[in-house]
Amino acid sequence: MHSMIGGRSLVLEEEIEKSVVLGWFAGGNPDGNRRKIGNVYPLDSIGILMDPTVKNDFGSYWKIKTEGRGMVLIYIAIDDGHGVETAGKRTPLFADGTYMAENEYNAAVAGFLQKALQRCGFHTILVAPEEKDTPLSVRVKRANDAQADAYVSIHANAYGTDWNEANGVESWVYDKADAKTLAFAKAIHRGLVSASGRKDRGLKKSGDLYVLKQTKMPAVLVEGGFMTNLTEAKLLLSEEYRKVCAEGICQGICNYFQIPYQVEEGGEKEMKRYQSIEDLPYGKEIMQKLVEEGVLSGDENGNLNLSEDMVRVFMILDRKDVL
Ligand SMILES: [Zn+2]
Repeated sequence: MHSMIGGRSLVLEEEIEKSVVLGWFAGGNPDGNRRKIGNVYPLDSIGILMDPTVKNDFGSYWKIKTEGRGMVLIYIAIDDGHGVETAGKRTPLFADGTYMAENEYNAAVAGFLQKALQRCGFHTILVAPEEKDTPLSVRVKRANDAQADAYVSIHANAYGTDWNEANGVESWVYDKADAKTLAFAKAIHRGLVSASGRKDRGLKKSGDLYVLKQTKMPAVLVEGGFMTNLTEAKLLLSEEYRKVCAEGICQGICNYFQIPYQVEEGGEKEMKRYQSIEDLPYGKEIMQKLVEEGVLSGDENGNLNLSEDMVRVFMILDRKDVL
């Protein structure tokens, strides 16, 4: 791994030295001058090491054997929606005469999301780190130029300008989105809905949202609640809720890319384990095959004790035709 093009490959070289993971990265555009790196999956959770393989979808896959923690070379662009002073984007006045600008929520969630994604091994780009309202064209250009693998735009909703009952969480995807983008948007929406516990208003389609239309990667725009609903406005103001939203979005991104979600250090991970094939939420076929082949046998009572992460990793291996 040397003399690769662009900053990403330099990161890769450094990480190889530090890590212990066997993974793949896809690369080698036909034109050879711009390398797209993605799909490096952390496999250390099951410690399988395999021989190098070469595949040719649009180039080659290199398998990388490294020592250390998992590594993922997937770039997520994070967009905080507006500037803090953007006119009209705020809650109505609270009883004490104060209000919250939409960007206070958006930017806080963007910050938490960046930390959460980095913890899970993603690389991130904040496309509008400035306080002022960065033009949408600049946000999109930054993501496109960086060849981000996915784009998340974070917002809070409003219905009118006064307090009212409209509430819940919704997400938006481009109306001409391809299947990949749709799957990405669904995963993020599901993550946000289940983490936030708010009413699910659905994944909606629009042809007019600039950042969804102009981004060259799967993109989604999320609305984490209504600024015009007093209950939700109070949630949107709280650090706890902002963090919950960010972690939900992060889980959705992890699910989509099939990367194990890592909880925050000090946090508790509810690791669900499955004892039999019938209990599995997905991957039954492949796991059944592994049991029949004697690769998996479980404990003396036949309990498989499989974590979701492990099932997911086996599914990835199966998809890559490794099994
Ligand atoms: Zn907004």
